[in-house]
Amino acid sequence: MSVAKFSTTCHSPMPSRSSTRQPASKLLWGAGTMGLESTSRTLHSVHPMRSTPLAQANVVDIVQETADTKTFVLQPDAPWQDRPCAKAGQHVQLRLEIDGQPATRSYSLTNCPGARQLALTVQRRPGGLVSQHLHQHTRVGDVLSISQPEGEFVLPLQWPDKILLLSVGIGITAVMAMLRDLQQHNYPGDLAFFHVCRHPAEMIFSKDLCDIEANMPTLSLIKHFTHQSGPLTPQALRFELPDLAHRSSWMCGPTDLLEAVQGLWRDQAIATPLQVESFATARPS
Ligand SMILES: Cc1cc2nc3c(=O)[nH]c(=O)nc-3n(C[C@H](O)[C@H](O)[C@H](O)COP(=O)(O)OP(=O)(O)OC[C@H]3O[C@@H](n4cnc5c(N)ncnc54)[C@H](O)[C@@H]3O)c2cc1C
Repeated sequence: MSVAKFSTTCHSPMPSRSSTRQPASKLLWGAGTMGLESTSRTLHSVHPMRSTPLAQANVVDIVQETADTKTFVLQPDAPWQDRPCAKAGQHVQLRLEIDGQPATRSYSLTNCPGARQLALTVQRRPGGLVSQHLHQHTRVGDVLSISQPEGEFVLPLQWPDKILLLSVGIGITAVMAMLRDLQQHNYPGDLAFFHVCRHPAEMIFSKDLCDIEANMPTLSLIKHFTHQSGPLTPQALRFELPDLAHRSSWMCGPTDLLEAVQGLWRDQAIATPLQVESFATARPS
């Protein structure tokens, strides 16, 4: 997929389930020990139709990113576009009807904020109801129902001097829009984008990342392939990024790694902010 595929007319530098399965999102901002102690855990377990009315979005393109990942490019209707621009890192709730039953899941927006077209990048989960349906049955020309953008996993209004965006596997979707946003607005600071996956063939947005790296001198792109280097640990992260403690960090990945990194922040009394998000879902009952 190429960034140019979307109408990337970002106009603001930053500003800007129907199941009861519970994805957990954790926010840590202004961390340090006190911040960590007072971390609040936000469960997105409320009724999926709770927020603003749904908008309709036409599927205008479908891009196979990796063997099990597709990007759905959407053209939303006018009411959606009239709303304030989504912030990089936010997600929408996608509502489908599958076999007559409503089903709602959250998906991060992977397009640059302000683009006229939206992009949702979905990994097919074995046995997963919605992701399987999207991969197998959704076609260009279909119309999907989406919520307004939501979520607190976003960059601050004033961008810090040193940033780390870290993702594991499909967690890359939550930080990809941030990277596009920072590139689009010529972020002058020091940006490290650290991605972890099993194998180069499983690297989502591989070409986009290469293109962005080639055009963004302030970006350090670090790839960690677990089939070669083993699982990422906080120690390995510190080794790769000796200045980790000075980076305001946004991370999206599995809960155990996020908790380990939060532990590092706490144990080392790191004062820079750490914000984390997990797509983890509770096993359906
Ligand atoms: C804020 C947020 C943003 C997100 N962004 C993205 C994104 O950008 N891209 C993305 O791909 N995902 C994202 N997700 C995850 C997404 O919302 C869905 O949870 C994911 O697509 C799986 O949904 P599903 O309907 O396919 O799987 P589900 O049917 O909900 O099943 C979830 C898992 O449980 C397993 N399972 C199902 N039934 C059983 C059973 N009976 N026993 C045991 N296990 C079972 C399935 O195999 C599957 O792995 C995000 C989640 C959140 C909270």
